[in-house]
Amino acid sequence: MADNIVVRFAPSPTGPLHIGGVRTALFNFLFARKNHGQFILRIEDTDHERSETKFEEEIKQSMKWLGLEWDSHIIRQSERLDLYQRFSRELLAKELAYEWEGAVKLKVPREPLHFFDLVHGRVDFDGQAIDDFVIMKSNQYPTYHFASVVDDHEQGVTHVIRGDDHLPNTPKHLMLYQALGWSAPKFAHLPLVLGQDGAPLSKRHGHVSLTDYREKGFLPDGLLNYLALLGWSPGGNQEFLTREQLIDHFSIKRINKTNATFDPEKLRWLNGEHLKRLNDAVYLREGMAYLGVYAKEAVNALSKESLEDVLLLFKSRIKIWGDLMWQASFFWKEKVDFDPEAVTAHLQKQPGTKDKLTTLKERWASLKTFHDEKEVEVLLREAAGHLRIEARDLIHPARVALTGRSVSPSLFAVARLLGKEKVFNRIESAIKLAS
Ligand code: GLU
Repeated sequence: MADNIVVRFAPSPTGPLHIGGVRTALFNFLFARKNHGQFILRIEDTDHERSETKFEEEIKQSMKWLGLEWDSHIIRQSERLDLYQRFSRELLAKELAYEWEGAVKLKVPREPLHFFDLVHGRVDFDGQAIDDFVIMKSNQYPTYHFASVVDDHEQGVTHVIRGDDHLPNTPKHLMLYQALGWSAPKFAHLPLVLGQDGAPLSKRHGHVSLTDYREKGFLPDGLLNYLALLGWSPGGNQEFLTREQLIDHFSIKRINKTNATFDPEKLRWLNGEHLKRLNDAVYLREGMAYLGVYAKEAVNALSKESLEDVLLLFKSRIKIWGDLMWQASFFWKEKVDFDPEAVTAHLQKQPGTKDKLTTLKERWASLKTFHDEKEVEVLLREAAGHLRIEARDLIHPARVALTGRSVSPSLFAVARLLGKEKVFNRIESAIKLAS
């Protein structure tokens, strides 16, 4: 029955949470929420040497940040050694396992084996290919296989949803269920996430740890939306989905068998779609929080009000918060960082640019403040008329003067937010550079 569903995310705290792990956690989470089941977080720290508390902390923080909240208290395998030892003794007593150099090995039946995977359908294994395998190590720690099976049983896990890389482990797990006399949960193995070169996603592909994405300024909902599409689709061509829609549409039946390719550009695009749709209050709160951590310079240079104005100006232009660092930094940097190409194209290539900017400055001087964008625009157009040039031939050099680049939000909005004094200083500096 649907309300008995129990799934788990079972990371090993031997490194930071990576994108593939988040995808596994997400599919478990969505399946649990969709079916009003339970989502368990289990820390598989039986690799004593490689497990570290700091990674466990990071995994928990990342899950919380993503909003993938787990339902019950966290189980840590290192705190349950007694349990594994007890079942190991039971298997020894039944002669289904034996001691081997201080460790304990399971006797493998060597018969052909199959099971029905919810994604792949019937999967067959050649029983001859699997040798007796260790379930308890000589240091009294269980192996991953043993601990995983004991805990899935003890925790009442009904569905094991994990990456295809674990498919070769499943026959061993089935043998353990059989030896222990337990019925096995259902399995759903998720297609792998590959880099664009076709190799499994790894550090070679650049950013794979979730923390990197958080620092770059992705939104949890943008990331989750994108990761949900890696190996699953809601049907139709719909790609933008809110968290609620993901839960609502999720079904194991729509998980693909074929591997998925991680496309960083598509992730950026989808994140931008989520950013754009935030209501202004949330957008400003989140944007200010991001700048507060990653752009102290901005927070120190501008008032909260001005910074909020700047943020709103970029709402439909940025894909991730980190884009602000290069697209908007001219607002808070004292000196403009000129893009050399923009300088050549719009300040130096055409003779007479110095005069054009000087004329513009004279017109703008008649304004007390730049609060009214429309007035700023009217005066620029008058200056262009006077110079007998198109308005855009004045807008381009003025844009480079104020922002250092050839692309920016509306020049008049930029001028309004910078204010008269900064605009004048910047035009004067540009006049020195211009031909
Ligand atoms: N600790 C395993 C891992 O991180 C979990 C595998 C499983 O879900 O059974 O890959």
